[in-house]
Amino acid sequence: MKQNRKGLLLVVSGPAGVGKGTIDTALIERNPTMKMSVSATTRKPRPGEIDGVHYFFKSEDEFVKMIERDEFLEYMHVFSTNYYGTPRAFVEEELELGHDVILEIDVMGAMKIRESYPDAVLVFIAPPSMSELKSRLIGRGTETIEAIEKRYEVAFGEMQYMDKYDYLIVNNLVDLAVRRMECIIEAEKCKVARSEALINRLLGGNSEL
Ligand code: 5GP
Repeated sequence: MKQNRKGLLLVVSGPAGVGKGTIDTALIERNPTMKMSVSATTRKPRPGEIDGVHYFFKSEDEFVKMIERDEFLEYMHVFSTNYYGTPRAFVEEELELGHDVILEIDVMGAMKIRESYPDAVLVFIAPPSMSELKSRLIGRGTETIEAIEKRYEVAFGEMQYMDKYDYLIVNNLVDLAVRRMECIIEAEKCKVARSEALINRLLGGNSEL
């Protein structure tokens, strides 16, 4: 029986270098109706990053105007230098169409979403260990030692929020992490609390088999 319902809002956080982007990309590839929200940011593109694909790259002026027009579901001044925000329209439209939407955002953004969308499912991607995370940050090779140290500090701070999430996935094997994400999504969709329409239809006197 087809279940008519809104999509699931999935919030994925985890420290830089933990591999959340790889997991989310694999999820989308395997589940074509699942959508990834593209955030807006004022930070400069890294080599290989494409406007409209990885982020919508904005000037500070443009970003502030978007805030004033209430165009963000949530936004954040991360590392006190750059703005990051989730454009509202895309997410709301896709959820209405019944598509699941992934937000890959920081812990503060996740806490804001929890307040405004209590139905959202929050997943934290953790490294197998802090030393492994440090090697992965160094392995990226795109940043200076100071920037890596700073990211490690921020990462450690973000890890303090793990217990505020609904699910915790350790990313030691990408395939396993993706499968766990899919299991979480399926289980969430089967929750009685999300099945009001189905329950009403089944108990609503329609005896068709
Ligand atoms: P990066 O600059 O490495 O792409 O991202 C830095 C941090 O900003 C990451 O933790 C990332 O998850 C977070 N981030 C990216 N987009 C958003 C967003 O729209 N909102 C919030 N709150 N954080 C975001």
